Amino acid sequence: SSGPQYLTGDKSSIDAFIDKFDVFLFDCDGVLWSGDHLFPRIPETIQMLRDKHKQLVFVTNNSTKSRADYKKKFDGMGIPAHEEEVFGSSYSAAVYISRIMKLQPPKNKVFVLGESGVEQELQSEHVPFCGGTDPLLRREMLPEDFKHIADGSLLDDDVAIVLTGLDYHPSYLKYALGMAYLRRGAHFLATNTDSTLPSAGSLFPGAGATSAPLITATGQQPLALGKPSQAMMEAIEGKFRFDRKKACMVGDRLNTDIQFGVEGGLGGTLCVLTGVSKKEEFLGEGKGVVPSAYVDQLGDLLG
Ligand code: PLP
Ligand code: CA
Repeated sequence: SSGPQYLTGDKSSIDAFIDKFDVFLFDCDGVLWSGDHLFPRIPETIQMLRDKHKQLVFVTNNSTKSRADYKKKFDGMGIPAHEEEVFGSSYSAAVYISRIMKLQPPKNKVFVLGESGVEQELQSEHVPFCGGTDPLLRREMLPEDFKHIADGSLLDDDVAIVLTGLDYHPSYLKYALGMAYLRRGAHFLATNTDSTLPSAGSLFPGAGATSAPLITATGQQPLALGKPSQAMMEAIEGKFRFDRKKACMVGDRLNTDIQFGVEGGLGGTLCVLTGVSKKEEFLGEGKGVVPSAYVDQLGDLLG
């Protein structure tokens, strides 16, 4: 049949699969590790691909961490990786804003709903921002705030973009400010729109959930810069230049990672079963997003 290929045990069919590609795009959480738990034989698998001179890019939707934060995490886990190989959704948004939107100062400031990962990556691309981790925005909304948002005195006239990422400190005040900027015509971007965040063996509200109040309030949809958005693929391609047909996306989630690779026309997609999606979701007739191959765990690529 033409269903996904199960890569297990047989070293020659595994090597034949690997040999089809020059580039591997790796999702992180659910593939390399789960939270702080490193999966078996990950450093060895990554090293095996390096020994075969494969180009590696680590593509994560986690907007709360910067590339520098990820480099520390890779080092701590003993995975051989370089900061330049990390491509997170915060960096994707920062690159999109600075290199594709190219807004002219002074009206080029970003109002951030999100954590320090977003701020660090905007800073790395020299994009001015406000909001974010500013503790003043974590307070409750006071009666006079309604008036000062309505008359504009609490607003920054330089804001041209509202960018949402996962926000662990959402507040009504932040949403009221974000809505006011959007009503004034600001562009609406999101690092990613994952509905859920897998953690500690369970599911929690994801970045899509913490940006939902703004979507509901304004009726507008943000442009998402994380998987499966092809805006992220273009941003990655802008930095790394590769032949899509010689690239394979490796991930644990069908509706983000695998869809990202399929829609992007990559040469292959590899689903690992250590994360969100189960093989029943893609095996059998009439399934939606189907990977070209799957493994029980990434370390199985060592044979
Ligand atoms: N968003 C957040 C805030 C996360 O913590 C994670 C996982 O750690 C994700 C998204 C999903 O990340 P990935 O795309 O690496 O699976
Ligand atoms: Ca994942």
